[in-house]
Parts: sequence; C-alpha cells; structure tokens
Amino acid sequence: MTTTLLQPGQIEAAAGSIPELRLPPADLFLARARRLEQLAEQHTLGEYLRFVAGLARAQQASLDAAPASSLPAPERLAQCREYRMPPLAPAGLVWPPGWRDTARHLARTVLPSLPAAGQAALQPILDGADAWLDAQATRLFEGDMANLDAAMAPLIGAALQVHWTGLARQLDPAQVARPEHPNLCPVCGSHPVSSVVRIGGAESGLRYLHCGLCASEWHMVRAKCSNCDNTRGIVYYHVEGGDNVARAESCPECRTYLKIMQQDKDPLTDPVADDLAALALDWLMDETGYDKSGINWYLIQSQL
Ligand SMILES: [Zn+2]
Ligand SMILES: [Zn+2]
Repeated sequence: MTTTLLQPGQIEAAAGSIPELRLPPADLFLARARRLEQLAEQHTLGEYLRFVAGLARAQQASLDAAPASSLPAPERLAQCREYRMPPLAPAGLVWPPGWRDTARHLARTVLPSLPAAGQAALQPILDGADAWLDAQATRLFEGDMANLDAAMAPLIGAALQVHWTGLARQLDPAQVARPEHPNLCPVCGSHPVSSVVRIGGAESGLRYLHCGLCASEWHMVRAKCSNCDNTRGIVYYHVEGGDNVARAESCPECRTYLKIMQQDKDPLTDPVADDLAALALDWLMDETGYDKSGINWYLIQSQL
C-alpha cells in the first residue's frame, strides 16, 4: 500500500477543479415537466402543477425549434469577463428576436387547458403589440411585480426563459467570470429561484444556486446566506412530516430565506419544480417572519 501526500500546489489545483458554473442542459424543460407531473400525483396543488408541466413541455418544444440567437460579440464577452459583469444581462443585450412570437405560441398552446376565465386572462398576449410585450418583459426584468399582471407574467417569463436558456447554452463556462457577489446569476444577472445540492461526478455534495431566467447554476458554499453573504446563525426549516427534499435556509441578519433541495434525497429533484411543489414551506416561512429571496417566474404573484 502506498500513501500519496498532496503538495500545496496540488491541493489548490483540486480546489480549482470544482465546476463553478453549470450551464443548462438540452432537455431542461422536459425534465422539469416530468418532475412536475410526478410531483402533481396526490398533491393538493396537482391541477396547478400539471398546468405548469404543460407549459414546460411547450417551452421544450420552443427551445428545440427556436433558431439559435446570436451571443454578444467576442470582444463584448471578453470585456464582461474582465469586469466581472454578467454577459447576458437583459439591460445590456439586444433581446433575442422571436421571443414575442414564442410568448404568443406558448399562450396558444396552453389556452385549451384553461377554464374560460383563464383563457380570457391570457388573451392580451395574443392580441398585444410588440411594444406592449416588451413593456411587460421590462417590468419582469426590473422586478416591478406590482405593475405586472399575475396571470400573464408566467407566460411572458416562460418565453423569455426559452430564449435566455438558448443563449446560455451557447456559452462556455470559461467565458463567464465568477461573480463578485454570488447573490445574482453570473450569466444574466437575475435572481436565483432556489438552490440544489447535486450528486454525481465532480459536483457531488456541492450546492448550486439556480437562475430564474437562464437556468444556469453557480456554486455557492452551504450554510451561507445567498442574499447578504452572512454565515452566522443560519437555520434550516422544513415542513413537519414532509420528505425533507426541500428545506428553507434562513438568515437572521437580512431575515430572508432561500430553499435548498437535496438531490441525494430524490435524484429527480428540480430547483424550479420542487420550489413550486413546496409552497407549504413558503407559507411556514411567511408565518415565521422571513421574506423569500428566490423568485420563481412561474408564480409571480407569490412575490406580491
Ligand atoms: Zn441567469
Ligand atoms: Zn442574509
């Protein structure tokens, strides 16, 4: 038997080999739809989860069919990397062409599954001019939730997710700088939905925050508040009698929480689908006096 001692340089190399950024997989929305359908079984919100699953399936079809949008020019990407800015931040980007048609297509696809009132609520997306759709998207990007229509926002957001995911998939992780403050996505600058402790390969046991817009995931150590970087007094909450796949990581400093999903407890867990299915945990945290720092674009009204 031989024992190999690691030299300091080797230890640093090992630490540097952690995958800091996970770009979205090709079947992102399909896997999400399947997870939602699984979670919908015997769930009090089953009908709602099945509706979102249908929307996610339509998103996958749109992602597969959408023409590839162009990334910013190489010089721009290099500049963003140098100054540690997210290269796909909506404010600094020519928005991917076709996202409005995707919004209309998604609305048309999910319309038949809705009651008459729901169909009427989505009609403005089908009738709206391009400028009106752009204004809705701007409100979503700017977090102007008070002026967003809660019924339409998930559809607008779903279309934007399709195009930003398509863009993020064309990046190489080496083109993206580590963020100075890991509370926002290093690829597009959006808020995380939740976080997930991954299993398998080099990512095993590592916690990643999951972007609500472009679905990229960035590494962040556990037991640290993703909202204010505090590491003291972090407390985990879970719903009594639940499966504990989703817990709330709460911070006594800024009084916020972010959900953390354990993939080792359920390998199919999805940071967006499981966030929706664990709404009871949001209600518990609301009663406990904590604000949710994650934003799930399928459920904008929970932020009001
Ligand atoms: Zn992002
Ligand atoms: Zn905090």
